[in-house]
Amino acid sequence: MPIERLRQPGNRRFGNELPAQLQLVDGALRLSVNAFAIDDGHEITLIDTGSSNAWHPTMGFLPQALMEARIAVDRIRTVAFTHTHLDHIQGLILPDGRDGFPQLGRLLVPRLELDMFRSEARLSRFHDRAQPLDPGQHLGANIEAIAIPGHEIGHTGFRVTRGGETLLVWGDLVHVPSLQFDRPEVAWEYDADQGQARATRLQILALAADNAYCVAGAHLDSPGIGRIFRTETAFRFEPL
Ligand SMILES: [Zn+2]
Repeated sequence: MPIERLRQPGNRRFGNELPAQLQLVDGALRLSVNAFAIDDGHEITLIDTGSSNAWHPTMGFLPQALMEARIAVDRIRTVAFTHTHLDHIQGLILPDGRDGFPQLGRLLVPRLELDMFRSEARLSRFHDRAQPLDPGQHLGANIEAIAIPGHEIGHTGFRVTRGGETLLVWGDLVHVPSLQFDRPEVAWEYDADQGQARATRLQILALAADNAYCVAGAHLDSPGIGRIFRTETAFRFEPL
C-alpha cells in the first residue's frame, strides 16, 4: 500500500520530488485511521469500523478507543460505512473472531458497493445483513447520508445536524492532511476516480469553510475533527 511505496527511494511517481509540505515519520507516510461514533442521546451510530487485525499491526484499536470514550459496544445498534475498503469495514469482527458489535441491528453499506462488501470472505456472516445505503437517506433525525463521489464508486459522507451546528463526516476526502488542504488538487493513488475525487475535494472543502461546518475525516490525524478555513490560495485545517 502507499505507506510502503512512498518509502522506496526509487519510487517512480514520487522519487525525490516529494512535495515540501509532506510530513513523513521515519521516512514513511503516516496514515491515521478513524471511525466516528455519533451519540444522539439514546442510540449510537458508528461510522466505519477501522481495520481490526486485517491490515497494519498499528491499526485496529477501535475497541480500546471506544472503551476510552466510555462507549459500551452494546449501545452500538447501527453501523454505516462510508465505503468498503478494508480499513473501514473489517472492524465488524474482532481479532479473536467474535462480532465487534453484538447488538448490531442495522448494517448500512453504500448501495453501489454492496457487491464489493459481499466479496469480503472474512465478513461472510455479515453479507446477508447488509442493507443498501443511498445518498439522501436519513439514518435518524439528525444524520443524513450524502454522496461524496470519487474515492470509491459508492463513497458516502454523513451530515449530522443539531441546533444550528453541522458536522460533516467525510470519509476519505483527504488522505494526507499535511498536503491536501494546502494542495487539494493532489490526488491519492487509491482514489478510484482521481479527477472526480479532486473536484469533490475542492467542492466540499469550500462548502465546509464557507458554512463553518465541523468536519470529521477517516484519515485526519488525531483528533480527526476540526474546522476548515480558506487561505489565500487554498485551505487549512484547524483541529478541535
Ligand atoms: Zn480509507
